[in-house]
Amino acid sequence: MSETAARKRQQSHARGVVGEICDEVLARQRFLLTSHARPDGDSIGSQLAMAYALDALGKDVRILNADPAPDHYREFPGLDRIEIASTAAGVDADALIVMECSDLGRTGVAGLEGRFIINIDHHVGNRMYGALNWFDESAAACGEMVFEVIQALRVPLTYEIATHIYLAILTDTGSFHHSNITPRTFDICRQAVEAGVNPAAMARGVFDSNSFGKLKLIGALLDAMELADEGRLAVLDMDDAMLAACGCTYNDTEGVINLPLTAREIQAVVFFKVASNGDVRVSMRSKYDVDVRLVANGFGGGGHKNAAGFTVPGPLEAVRGPILDRLVEAIAHGLQTRPVP
Ligand code: AMP
Ligand code: MN
Repeated sequence: MSETAARKRQQSHARGVVGEICDEVLARQRFLLTSHARPDGDSIGSQLAMAYALDALGKDVRILNADPAPDHYREFPGLDRIEIASTAAGVDADALIVMECSDLGRTGVAGLEGRFIINIDHHVGNRMYGALNWFDESAAACGEMVFEVIQALRVPLTYEIATHIYLAILTDTGSFHHSNITPRTFDICRQAVEAGVNPAAMARGVFDSNSFGKLKLIGALLDAMELADEGRLAVLDMDDAMLAACGCTYNDTEGVINLPLTAREIQAVVFFKVASNGDVRVSMRSKYDVDVRLVANGFGGGGHKNAAGFTVPGPLEAVRGPILDRLVEAIAHGLQTRPVP
C-alpha cells in the first residue's frame, strides 16, 4: 500500500481502523508480535497483553524482541514467552503485530519487511509501514490502544491482560507525571484494578526494585550532575566505566533520568550515555509544555513531548553543545505556558 493510501486509511476513522484490525486478527491464525529494541514497560506490557488476548482467541502467538526486558519486569506474567533474536527470518506467521514503533527499524529485528503488518503506535512521526496502521498520538501509552483492540475483539479482561495494560500505562506516563494523561487513561486503569491489579504492588514492583548497584549508580550520576540554563536544565553523563564501577548494566539506567525533575526548578533533563563503540545515546525528559520531542526530531530521533531520545555518533564533546542549545530554546518556549497544579 502506498504511504498516502495508508495515511488516508488511518485518518478515515480511528474506530474503523480498530474494526479492520479485528477483522484481520480474527481471519488469521499465526501471529508474530514485536516492539522496539531495549524494551520499556509500554513495549513489554503492550506485547504481552496482546499475546494473552490472542491466546484467548485460540491463536498461535510468538513474541520476538531484539533485547531482553529489564530484570525487574521478569516477575510479571508471561515474560518467559519473549524470544530474543535479531532476525525473524524463518519465523512463519500470517500476520505481524508491531507495537510502539514509529518505524520498523526501531524493532532492531531483521526480516520483518514484506509481511502482513499491523502497526499500532502512539509516537508522532509514525511511518505508516503496515498494511493496517493505527496511530494515535493522544494515547498516553501504546497499551491504551492495545486495550481498545482487546475490547473490540471482545476478549474478557483477565488478570494477566490487565496487569500488562496497567504496566504499560504506569511506566509510559512516568508514573502518572506526563502531560498526555486523559480520562481514558484512568478509565482503563480502573478496569484493570477491577480485574485484580494491585496498584501498590505494581508501583513497588516497577519503581522500587532497584539493586544496591543501581542505588550507587544513582548516587554517582547525581553527584556528577551539571546544571545549565540557570538551573532549569540538568545534565547527566555516563559511560561504560561508570556502569562497571557500580556493578551495573545498561538496563539499570532505566528511570534514573526522572530523578532530577523532582527538583522544583529543573524543567528538563538530558542524559548522555556513551556506549563502548563511541555512539552517544541521548535521553530527555521534561515538565509540562517543554517539548523535548522537537529537540529529538532535530537529531533524527523521536518520542513524546515529555520523553524523547535519539542516538548520534560521538565523540560526546562534538554533540553536547548543540544539543544543550536546543534544549535551552525548548525550555524558553515551553515555559510560556505552564499550567497551575
Ligand atoms: P528513552 O529515553 O530511551 O526512554 O526514550 C524516550 C522516548 O523517546 C520513548 O518514547 C522512545 O520511544 C523515544 N525514542 C528514543 N529514542 C528514539 C529514536 N532513536 N527514535 C525515535 N524515538 C525514540
Ligand atoms: Mn509508549
